[in-house]
Amino acid sequence: MSDCLFCKIAAGEIPANKIYEDDNVLAFYDIAPQAPVHFLVIPKKHLADLSEIAGDIGNTVTAANCLETCADLAKQLGLGSYRVVSNIGAEAGQSVFHLHFHVLGGRELGRIAG
Ligand code: 5GP
Ligand code: ZN
Repeated sequence: MSDCLFCKIAAGEIPANKIYEDDNVLAFYDIAPQAPVHFLVIPKKHLADLSEIAGDIGNTVTAANCLETCADLAKQLGLGSYRVVSNIGAEAGQSVFHLHFHVLGGRELGRIAG
């Protein structure tokens, strides 16, 4: 998608502090970290949010690849406890409308709250 920030990062048109990349998935550090470790995992394919994986096995596999990458990188970065979050829709706090999973760790995170 031409005017999507994360598509531009995936295409290398905008720089990011990348941690991992393969044909389908990219992981990079969040520009405004909310925890000592805060990175994002995105599919390279543009999907606006998690709801767009529905009914498409390829998209479902890509989302699963993203989650596997979250877990692999968390382990690689030495996180014992961490949180994986995906905001869906503006009211849930989504500000970039390209599917992404936040991985947050390195501090006590407290109970999940609305
Ligand atoms: P959302 O609010 O949509 O769940 O998460 C979007 C995240 O993207 C935010 O945590 C924000 O800090 C991060 N972000 C926004 N613009 C950039 C950018 O240009 N580079 C990086 N690395 N992260 C960004
Ligand atoms: Zn996009």
